[in-house]
Amino acid sequence: MKALSDGQLLHFFKCLEKDWEVRLPVTLPDGTRTLGSLKDGPIALLGGSLPAKPTGAFFPQEEEIFRLSERELRLPLPPERPLFVAGFTSRDLASLLFIDRFFADDPKDDLYFRRRQSALVAAVTGWCGPGGSFIKMTSKGCDLELLRDERGWLLLSHSEAGRQATQELPEGDDPLRLERFVAASASQSNDDELLLSQAAELLRADLVPDSFWNEIGDRCILCTGCNLVCPTCTCFGIRDWRSASGVERIRMWDSCQLEGFMREAGGHNPLGSEALRSRRRIHHKLAADLMRWGEISCFLCGRCDATCPTGIGIVSVMKEMVARHGGPANQRSR
Ligand code: SF4
Ligand code: SF4
Repeated sequence: MKALSDGQLLHFFKCLEKDWEVRLPVTLPDGTRTLGSLKDGPIALLGGSLPAKPTGAFFPQEEEIFRLSERELRLPLPPERPLFVAGFTSRDLASLLFIDRFFADDPKDDLYFRRRQSALVAAVTGWCGPGGSFIKMTSKGCDLELLRDERGWLLLSHSEAGRQATQELPEGDDPLRLERFVAASASQSNDDELLLSQAAELLRADLVPDSFWNEIGDRCILCTGCNLVCPTCTCFGIRDWRSASGVERIRMWDSCQLEGFMREAGGHNPLGSEALRSRRRIHHKLAADLMRWGEISCFLCGRCDATCPTGIGIVSVMKEMVARHGGPANQRSR
């Protein structure tokens, strides 16, 4: 365990830049808090989850697949330095582990692992949430954990790469300090996890009527915000751009809330209404992924609820669903 002040932590990040491409929460000149480099703005580790999905560090909104010019096919060059990415919460790390599995499934997605395979990932936990609120500790899925309290930072290594990166740093000598984090983590509420399992059970038992989805769909304005911020949304589309120098093929994030998402070449659209697309967005995370991957692919990061301008992020929809249609046990006893 290492103990650092704010100034020492900043110095640590600057030293890392020699060997790593450092990405961490910063505040841009326009006030946006996002993943960026130390040159982009002051560090902004405090404040909890970033509004944008941190998994975008490995699966960016747009990236080149290849470039074809004068009969020569050129693949993107490998990154010059491996990525160091800080700013993940425990829910973000669960999301990252999920999309690691998704992109590793045969055929393995080489573009994703080009950045991901040698990356060092750091969680930010402790009293660093909005207004100094507590963010639960985590060790799963990260190499390093930066824990915040009123005295500064503790650094815990959770992998050999994390240990090597921090070996020169000063040791922390107060085990009671760490125990406070453990106790605060153990006292975190699990209310939303219960809601998640109740909503998933309702969907798996097919107990949510079409009229519910018609109402939810009527409230969707197709802004795509929910998909753009979700750390486990992995859908993308492919585009070819032609220029004088050849053709560039890129992939870009897609959104299952858009009308053309599933429209087929012959014109048929199996998701032709907002109601069907809204149902699919929620059903996919809570029921379809559970069947396909053995786990629900919503990790309650809160981004879609914070982003949706009409109040139909996943937690809001689950609350409405469970309140109005009850659990399967309730329905059977009616
Ligand atoms: S809370 Fe919303 S944004 Fe976060 S993982 Fe779940 S569905 Fe995605
Ligand atoms: S954020 Fe809300 S309104 Fe926008 S596409 Fe998603 S569900 Fe629809």
